[in-house]
Amino acid sequence: MPIRILRNICLGAADLTYPIHCVVCRRSWHSVVCAQCLDKITHIVPPVCARCGLPTDRHICGTCRTRKFHFEKARSSAVFEGALREAIHALKYRNLKAVADPLIEVMNKAYPFYNYRNSIDMIIPIPVHWSRIVERGFNQSELLARGIARHLSIRLETAMLYKAFKTPHQADLPFEQRLTNVAGSFAVRNAHKLQGKRALLIDDVMTTGATLDEAARALLEAGASSVVAYTLSRSL
Ligand SMILES: [Zn+2]
Ligand SMILES: [Zn+2]
Repeated sequence: MPIRILRNICLGAADLTYPIHCVVCRRSWHSVVCAQCLDKITHIVPPVCARCGLPTDRHICGTCRTRKFHFEKARSSAVFEGALREAIHALKYRNLKAVADPLIEVMNKAYPFYNYRNSIDMIIPIPVHWSRIVERGFNQSELLARGIARHLSIRLETAMLYKAFKTPHQADLPFEQRLTNVAGSFAVRNAHKLQGKRALLIDDVMTTGATLDEAARALLEAGASSVVAYTLSRSL
């Protein structure tokens, strides 16, 4: 087993031994993210761009006036900064699966603003390449999507949309390259189950919208009637 994977597992185990410590501030707490750190999260509330969910006083933001996303609309529960960014990094890069639970709660609490319940047929997480699953042990977006699907009692589809080839981490790339990095990297299997269906895509972070856009394009081309997106966080 590669040393990096072993190190992640050991770090994860060390962080979750009793008493539990908050993965953000390290204080001893009964949960992996303490109440004080959860309080520091900046939630995104209206007014937001009707299309991409960016906080703005304008009906449609500057980006969406010039760029047409394939998803109908996207919304995010909180700003990707500070305590939330730390918690997401702990989940993704320190392999701490338990951090997903408080983050799912952050997403669920934002639902009064962004209720998709009556307008979607299935929930689909943004997939990662299988090699990242081997490395990390899980797909963080799938964990979040599972929590949302349970909360809304909507069918979760985890195998339909998949990553056809590995692409560099979006976070490691400059803005321009992010837009093309994921092009054509998503594929759909069992497309007959998607025909005429309305899908809700779930991801952990929205930055340029390129990943959600490309996933939405793949789903629409495969037969979905509409795609909306909901992310835990939004990079502003
Ligand atoms: Zn804390
Ligand atoms: Zn917009």
